[in-house]
Amino acid sequence: MADEILNRTGEAFSPEDETQILDVIGRWLERDVVDKVMALEAADEYPHEMVERMKEFGLFGATIAQEYGGLGLPAATYAKIVTTISEVWMSLTGIFNSHLIMAAAVERFGTEEQKRRFLPRFATGELRGALALTEPNCGTDLQAIRTKAVRDGDDYVINGTKTWISNGIEGGCVALLTKTDADAEPRHRGMTMFVAEKGPGFTVSRKLKKLGYKGIDSAELVFGDYRVPADNLIGGAEGHGFHHAVGGLELGRINVAARGVGLANAALKEATAYSQVRETMGKPICQHQAIQLKLGDMATRCHAAKLLTEFAAKAYDSGERCDMEAGMAKLYASEAALENATECMRVFGGYGYSTEFPVERLYRDAPLMCIGEGTNEMQRIIIARQLIARNPV
Ligand SMILES: Cc1cc2nc3c(=O)[nH]c(=O)nc-3n(C[C@H](O)[C@H](O)[C@H](O)COP(=O)(O)OP(=O)(O)OC[C@H]3O[C@@H](n4cnc5c(N)ncnc54)[C@H](O)[C@@H]3O)c2cc1C
Repeated sequence: MADEILNRTGEAFSPEDETQILDVIGRWLERDVVDKVMALEAADEYPHEMVERMKEFGLFGATIAQEYGGLGLPAATYAKIVTTISEVWMSLTGIFNSHLIMAAAVERFGTEEQKRRFLPRFATGELRGALALTEPNCGTDLQAIRTKAVRDGDDYVINGTKTWISNGIEGGCVALLTKTDADAEPRHRGMTMFVAEKGPGFTVSRKLKKLGYKGIDSAELVFGDYRVPADNLIGGAEGHGFHHAVGGLELGRINVAARGVGLANAALKEATAYSQVRETMGKPICQHQAIQLKLGDMATRCHAAKLLTEFAAKAYDSGERCDMEAGMAKLYASEAALENATECMRVFGGYGYSTEFPVERLYRDAPLMCIGEGTNEMQRIIIARQLIARNPV
C-alpha cells in the first residue's frame, strides 16, 4: 500500500520514493482536504482531523533522521511536499514546519541524550511545538529579547513573554530563546535556548487574531517563574542560543520559500482556469493580451521561485552554509506569491473580492511569507552581506 511509504522506519530514503510520497499526499489533499478548506478557514478552526492524518503520514518527523524515528527526507523532497500542500492550504504546512525548525535546533545542536529524549516524540507528532523567539518588543532584533532564565539548582527559572508563537495553543512545547546573561557583550553570548514543555508557570495568555494564515494557532505565551530542568538546555552550555535559533531558520526559510511557490502556483492555476471560461467582448478573457501579459508574468515567477527553492534545498542537503541561497529563495518566492495573488484577484475582477472564491484567501495568506522567518528587508541585507563576504578584495 502506497501510504506505508510514509510510515516505514529503518530503510534509507531513495529518490524514487519522492514521486510516490507526493502522489500519496496529492490524493489525500484531493479526497479529504480541498473541499473542507473554505469552512475551516472562515471559522479559523484548527484542522484536528488533518493533523491526525499528517501524523500518520509521518510529516511531523519529515526532516528528522530515521535513527530518531523520523522519515529523514532530504530538504529538497520536503520542500516539494510543502509546495504541494500549500497549493491547497498553506496553513497546514505551518503546523509541521514551525515544529520541524524546533526539531532541527535539537537535532543539530542538542546533546545525544536530548536527541534521544525529544526527537522520537517530535517525529510522531505526539509532542508538537515551534520556535519561540519573538517578543512584544522585538522580532527582527532578536538580541534585544528580555525573557530571562536564571539558574536555580537543577532548574532554570524563566520569566518573560513571547508573542506570535505558532502552535502555541495546540502544541505541547517550544524551543524557547532566553537571556541567561543580560549584560553580555556581544549580546548574543548571553542567549540560551531550552526545550520548554507546558507546565506550571507556562501560560497561553491569548490567541492572536490574524488577516490570514487561519486554522493554525498563533499565541502569546507568558512565562511566570516557569521552571525548566537544566537538562533541557539545548547543547548543555549557556550562550549559544542565538546560534541555535539562526541555524534552524535556514530550513525555515526554505519552507517559507516552498510555501510561496505553492501559493504562487495556486494563484496561477486559478487565474488560468478562470480566464478560459470568463468571457468579455465575445471571447474568453484569456484571449485578451492584457490578461495574457499577467499569465505570462505569473507563470515565469512560479518557475523562477521553484528553481531558487530547489537550489537552496540542495545546498542545505549538502551540508553547506546556505543562508544566502535560502534568503534568496525566501525573498523571491514570497514576493512571487504576493504578486501572483494580487494579479489573480485582478483576473477574477469582482469575483476576486468575493469570499465565495478561494482567491481572496490567497491574497490574505501571501503577505505573511514576506514577514515570517525574517522579513524580506532582512533577507536582502543577509544576501548583500554574504555577497560581500564571499567576494574578498
Ligand atoms: C502569523 C505569524 C506567525 C509567526 N510565527 C512565529 C513563531 O512561531 N515564532 C516566533 O518566534 N515568531 C513568529 N512570528 C514573528 C515573526 O517572526 C516576526 O513578526 C518577524 O520576525 C518580524 O518581527 P517584528 O514583527 O517584531 O517586526 P520588527 O522587527 O519590529 O520590524 C518592523 C519593520 O522594520 C524592518 N526592520 C527591522 N530592523 C531592520 C533593519 N535592521 N534593517 C532594515 N529593516 C529593518 C522590518 O523589516 C519590518 O519592515 C510570526 C509572525 C506572524 C505574523
